[in-house]
Formats: sequence, structure tokens, C-alpha cells
Amino acid sequence: MAITKQQLEPLIPAVIEWAENESAKALRLGEPLNPTELEFARKIGIRFPEKVRLLKSSLMPKPPHPELLRIATEKGLDWSQNRGMTLGYAIFVREDFWRELRLVVHELVHTFQYERHGGLSLLRQFVHEYFIDGYQNSSLELEAISIEGRLLGPR
Ligand SMILES: [Zn+2]
Repeated sequence: MAITKQQLEPLIPAVIEWAENESAKALRLGEPLNPTELEFARKIGIRFPEKVRLLKSSLMPKPPHPELLRIATEKGLDWSQNRGMTLGYAIFVREDFWRELRLVVHELVHTFQYERHGGLSLLRQFVHEYFIDGYQNSSLELEAISIEGRLLGPR
């Protein structure tokens, strides 16, 4: 069953609250970028790369609604396959891909997108794109893949 923007909208405040809590945890516990990662962050155009923290995680934090996860799966986003996730300056990296440069660069583009937008409220657009348009069609995702490819060559 597809979901509409109108059905999604009431869920968004809880998603943003969840993101605030999760990102605060990662900013407290995570590690700053190393010199190579910092250089890529600057190339991407992040204004405050020193604010970024990477947190090694066995699983990506899950959004607060089981229903959202189910829809995400239908839309081609299988949470258990998720290797990295970015919430503002907080980047979660799955332990088996810890500090893999290509993954970190990809997630740094998402940090750039949050910074450009002005914060975690960009999640509203992420949720709409992932859950309605589908992960493969998300303009934010396509931009991240394109910049990642420009910096590191095509996947
Ligand atoms: Zn991405």
C-alpha cells in the first residue's frame, strides 16, 4: 500500500524528534573526521567539517514508526542493508564498513545537504523522497551519488 504526503506529514515531527536524540548521541560519542576525510568534507563544501562525528554502530538507528520501515522496504530501502546514515553532523557507520572512504564521502554529501538546508528539518524532504518517490528516485540521494562519483570515480 502506497502512502500519501498527507498521511506522512503527521509522522514527521516524531521523526525529527527521533533524529535530534540520535544525532545528539552520535555527536557525544562519535569520532571527528581524520585528515583525509576532512579534505573530502572541504571539497564537498561543508562549512564546518570539524563539527562532524562518525559513530561506529552495529545497526543503524531505526525510525520511530514500524509502519515507516515497512513502507521504506517497499520503496527499495531495506534498513537491514543500510551501511551508513546521516543526521546533520552525525554520521552512523556500520561496523563492518567502518571508515570505508567511499561510504564516508557519500554520507558527508548528506551532511552538506543538511548544512545547506539549515538543519535536521531537511528530514521532511528525505522522508517524502524516500517514502513516496522511492530511494532510487530521491533527488538528494542522486545528488549524493553524483558528487561521490565526481570525487572518487563511478561506483
Ligand atoms: Zn545516501
